[in-house]
Amino acid sequence: MEECAIADKAFDLIIIGGGPAGLTAGIYAARARLSVLLIEKGLCGGQIAATEKIENYPGFTEPLGGGELTSHMEAQAKEFGLNIKTFAQVESVSERDGSFLVKTGDETFSALTLIVATGATPARLGVPGESEFTGRGVSYCATCDGAFFRDKDVIVVGGGNAAVEEALFLTRFAKKVSIIHRRDEFRADKILVERAAKDERIEFLLGYELASIEGDGKVERVRIKSNKDEGEKIIPAEGVFMYVGTHPNSSFLTNIIKLDERGYIITQEDLGTSRRGIFAAGDVRRNGAKQVVIAAGEGALAAISAQRYLSELAEE
Ligand code: FAD
Repeated sequence: MEECAIADKAFDLIIIGGGPAGLTAGIYAARARLSVLLIEKGLCGGQIAATEKIENYPGFTEPLGGGELTSHMEAQAKEFGLNIKTFAQVESVSERDGSFLVKTGDETFSALTLIVATGATPARLGVPGESEFTGRGVSYCATCDGAFFRDKDVIVVGGGNAAVEEALFLTRFAKKVSIIHRRDEFRADKILVERAAKDERIEFLLGYELASIEGDGKVERVRIKSNKDEGEKIIPAEGVFMYVGTHPNSSFLTNIIKLDERGYIITQEDLGTSRRGIFAAGDVRRNGAKQVVIAAGEGALAAISAQRYLSELAEE
């Protein structure tokens, strides 16, 4: 994707992150005629860009590719005049004389207000086969990919609420769902565990660790190891759903805004953060659901709040 020429380094608004939240914020802010720069560490698109099909984004009767959806968002934002700087990772944010300074590898940009939309990265276990089969049977999102496993056997890895909730969700499609958890007890809420225990399509494999994911071009089976003895099992499965946590991309903000204990940005109703003038949207924010439509909605709200903040500044 071509990068816009960025002659100026001072903007009304800088958006950090070019996923659905950042791009939607860009559409709203550029359309409101603010001078806006979006900084993205790679190419725009975010996590969804790698997904083959997205079926739950409203407005499309035919599922479209994740990358196709976000490239439409990017084109729309550029149409309204959004400046985009790609392959520039934001390393730090500081405040000086009423402006925010945003530092990438070799450049510093300034703006009166900021929107952080840097998303989160699903945690990886790092077991053999995981990277090789990501997108070919290994998934980090049952809501997104569950429907592709109709009448198939799948594995869910993890013991928290996300793992058990998503295992329950997967029973809508899968023939059998085996939950592998390394401890003897789930961390998930009891009510969820009880619900899963009652479902005959769900099997619990407690006290086991995932050792490897195997297959020929696509997932065919997993190998699991007991934590109590040397026991090993091979479980046939075509899908492996990983719920071993996520990491918000917020480490460059630790000294400037309040994060929760896991690093997610804490926001108010208007998506303002603990520092006036900095807003946050999408998966990097502490909220319940991580979905494109939610990230896009929050990007729109953050842009509207940033505009209001700029009007307040002008009046002060
Ligand atoms: P992201 O998409 O994570 O985008 C953040 C962007 O910020 C990235 O491009 C990243 O490179 C950039 N960035 C991070 N740090 C920096 C930095 N320091 N400097 C500059 N840029 C930075 N949701 C659905 O609704 N439907 C689905 O079908 C679906 N399928 C999914 C499938 C998979 C495999 C995964 C992992 C997720 C799926 N999701 C789906 C969830 C969805 O992708 C996310 O909820 C959504 O992408 C969040 O958007 P975001 O803009 O908040 O963050």
